[in-house]
Parts: sequence; structure tokens; C-alpha cells
Amino acid sequence: MTAMMKAAVFVEKSRIELADKPVPDVGPNDALIRITTTTICGTDVHILRGEYPVAQGLTVGHEPV
Ligand SMILES: [Zn+2]
Repeated sequence: MTAMMKAAVFVEKSRIELADKPVPDVGPNDALIRITTTTICGTDVHILRGEYPVAQGLTVGHEPV
């Protein structure tokens, strides 16, 4: 069974949802970290408003603790 995690996903302009995604595979040059807290920054706001185009399904958020 594939291990799953929660991710904030860009669905469309004005819509970001929590979704279940598979835990990524980790290669020899990668690190897998457990995030306990996160927040948003200005980039996330621009993505939500459609001012910074990203692909549908992109996992957003990059301010982890
Ligand atoms: Zn940021």
C-alpha cells in the first residue's frame, strides 16, 4: 500500500484544496522531512489569485517548520 500525505493543491484560480497525495520517493540526494506546521507567503497569494501561473495539481506552500 502506498503511503499517503496531505498536500495543499492548486485546483484553479481562487481554489486551493487539501488533498491526499503519495509520499514522494526519496533518492540518494533527497531528504524526506515531516512537516508539523506551515504557513503561506506572498507567492501563494499570487498563485491563488491567478497572478502567478502554475499547473493544476501543483502542491503549493513552501514555508514548512
Ligand atoms: Zn515564500
